[in-house]
Amino acid sequence: MRLFLSGHGRMYSAEQRKHIRRILCVLFLFLVFCSIVFQIELQYTMKAEMKLYEKMQKESTKKEVCTLLREISCFPVREDETGHETYFFDNGYGTARTFGGKRSHEGIDIMTSNNRPGYFRIQSVCDGVIENIGWLKLGGYRIGIRSESGYYYYYAHLDRYAKGMAEGKKVSAGEMIGYMGNTGYGKEGTRGKFDVHLHFGIYRPEKKAEETLNPYYLLKYFSE
Ligand SMILES: [Zn+2]
Repeated sequence: MRLFLSGHGRMYSAEQRKHIRRILCVLFLFLVFCSIVFQIELQYTMKAEMKLYEKMQKESTKKEVCTLLREISCFPVREDETGHETYFFDNGYGTARTFGGKRSHEGIDIMTSNNRPGYFRIQSVCDGVIENIGWLKLGGYRIGIRSESGYYYYYAHLDRYAKGMAEGKKVSAGEMIGYMGNTGYGKEGTRGKFDVHLHFGIYRPEKKAEETLNPYYLLKYFSE
């Protein structure tokens, strides 16, 4: 039987060499497969990002979309664990609102199939710090989270907050911050003036007056 020295000075038989070659071959094919999958995924992500840039170009610069894509990593509502209930939303940004004076809708409403307060869980879409928490006449129980780049993420009409939420608390992307509800449009504790939903808004880091942007396409991107 032919023997040869390995790099470590050990002896391998022809049979063992054959075995090693077979393993290397499988490993090589596996790497090729992984690289193809990675390429396809990359192409898919790039295509989705391009589509997002196109849709948002009317109101956002490419730089802004890039910043938002870098810091947002998930949808603000967690999937229903049972898989029976769903959420949905349409592009209701800018539509008229009358409660509390004439104004336009500064965000997107995410509705649910069961309309049950406290059922769906709300999570932070990015890392940040809780800047505001508590009751607002319009927003009900709300949380406002400031990201590192200065954008302000606004979650309104919550049924209740997750444990430990407080002003100044650091939160991570994907961390649960509360439960979807129907609070607001009155004095503290007012419920049921409208269907259960999450009002989600994004405000630009302007110095003087904070300015909203339409989060519809971003939400679409993270819900697909
Ligand atoms: Zn709304």
